[in-house]
Amino acid sequence: MNEFRHFINGEFLASASGQSFENRDPVDNSLIGPVYEGGEAEVAAAVEAAQLALKGPWGKLGQAQRSALLMKVADRIEARFEDFLTAECRDTGKPRSLASKIDIPRGAANFRAFAEVLANHPNETFRMDTPDGAGALNYGQRSPKGVIAVICPWNLPLLLLTFKVGPALACGNTVVVKPSEETPATATLLGEVMNECGVPPGVFNVVHGLGPGSAGEYLTRHPGINAITFTGETRTGEIIMKAASVGLRNISMECGGKNPALVFADCDLDKAVAGTLRSSFLNTGQVCLCTERVYVQRPIFDEFVARLAEGARALKPGLPADEHTDYGPLISLGHREKVLSYYELARAEGAEVHAGGGVPDMADALREGAWIEPTVWTGLSTDARAVREEIFGPCCHVHPFDEEDEAIALGNDTNYGLAATVWSENAARATRVAEALDVGIAWVNTWFLRDLRTAFGGAKQSGIGREGGIHGLEFYTELKNVCVKL
Ligand code: NAD
Repeated sequence: MNEFRHFINGEFLASASGQSFENRDPVDNSLIGPVYEGGEAEVAAAVEAAQLALKGPWGKLGQAQRSALLMKVADRIEARFEDFLTAECRDTGKPRSLASKIDIPRGAANFRAFAEVLANHPNETFRMDTPDGAGALNYGQRSPKGVIAVICPWNLPLLLLTFKVGPALACGNTVVVKPSEETPATATLLGEVMNECGVPPGVFNVVHGLGPGSAGEYLTRHPGINAITFTGETRTGEIIMKAASVGLRNISMECGGKNPALVFADCDLDKAVAGTLRSSFLNTGQVCLCTERVYVQRPIFDEFVARLAEGARALKPGLPADEHTDYGPLISLGHREKVLSYYELARAEGAEVHAGGGVPDMADALREGAWIEPTVWTGLSTDARAVREEIFGPCCHVHPFDEEDEAIALGNDTNYGLAATVWSENAARATRVAEALDVGIAWVNTWFLRDLRTAFGGAKQSGIGREGGIHGLEFYTELKNVCVKL
């Protein structure tokens, strides 16, 4: 049995209150172990440790030394790859084949990439003229913002956490992380890695807990927090924005999506079907970038739906370690209840179900797990709730279109604006359509292909701000202009 403790000031601690909640394996709902629930005392201790660390040796390190230390962290995650992989798959139930290719390698890459980007980023300088002819020199100086609260979801726990912790630390900040209550394991392991690499105590802190009335809320309200970076549901983002408004703290928000795929008749159909199977069902549909709305040009509509449904039916649920597993369970029975309620709603709203729509028949103890079938619908109207609301499960609705303008309008017919995929072999069309979509990321003939030097974030209700590459600098640093009269 594992017990998950907070990581505060370099030490693994239980809650002062002794209060805990359960971490369960979604594969069979068995108990992994108790997680200590952080309260105001743990949040206060973590924030104080983070503030002190800013004044200690960490605050005195130069950029090159900080970057070197973060490279060491990346190396150490790779050295302990198996520990991270086992922990991540146990918490989430996701296949090892997936986590070993995406989650854990990206956990290490996030430290390496941001350590490199920031070590090599120049600041602006402007030589200006002055009336006396001597001139003045302006230059930008970046300093850390201070203590950053990092609030994370459960779908890609290590990947999303390190996507924020990597740049935050590379910029010289200290962090207090609140991982999702569903996935406490890899954040806790990262605490061990920080100690093993000699990262000073207080630089990286983890407080476990829930959101409202728990560690999440206390952290966002704590006056010692200088900025909040959040990934999760749009609704939660709105609550956190209100908390951040007290004391005018800066925020970065990566929120929900209802992402479209636009499939044109001039696409490579094999690639478009395979790509949409992946974009709708990877990680059991639990990637913020997953496709839940598919728009297909009429001449290929029937064939596309038939092939997508056939592909969805062929996907095999199974244990993380089984190499034949295509998909794992949802994160929890609670989340399955929510997704199944949308399966029911879609039927009630008039959907024709081409694949899935229910719970797969699992053997023995796995019947207790949060399994669900990949599902393909057609026939819903554009105002159906199943087409408008983020479901965050393995399901998509396929809708026909005739003209390019209509496809763009349908793609943009949402309050969200995170990602979109365009499938077309006509480069001019694909580029035109990608440019017309109101999203943070538009992919052409691919999906979830990420270069860490590029901007990441959402338009409309999918988020505020951009992280990734040098874009995180705006959030994780204060830019001061120094003006020197010559
Ligand atoms: P969630 O909003 O329920 O929870 C996210 C985190 O916020 C958790 O750690 C939770 O404990 C915490 N939290 C909840 N209420 C809080 C409060 N009042 N104050 C402070 N913290 C609080 O989201 P989730 O269910 O964990 O994750 C799924 C959602 O995340 C989906 O909407 C998905 O689209 C989104 N997501 C977005 C991105 C992106 O990059 N845009 C990436 C991954 C997931």
